[in-house]
Amino acid sequence: MGSRLKTRKVRCPICGKKALWEGNPFRPFCSERCKLIDLGSWLKEDYRLTTGPEGVEELHFPEEEKKE
Ligand SMILES: [Zn+2]
Repeated sequence: MGSRLKTRKVRCPICGKKALWEGNPFRPFCSERCKLIDLGSWLKEDYRLTTGPEGVEELHFPEEEKKE
């Protein structure tokens, strides 16, 4: 009895290490560090999206000047 109680493990998407699923506050990551790395990459992509349209506008200015 009780032998069926297995600890589930999950592979951390950041570093690939096996991390405990049960009782792991950072799942699916192995640690707080990997969770923060994932959060940081999300913030970086969000930053790129907000700076993207600005770059397009900057390219538009010289083109309009050439037409006139
Ligand atoms: Zn990890």
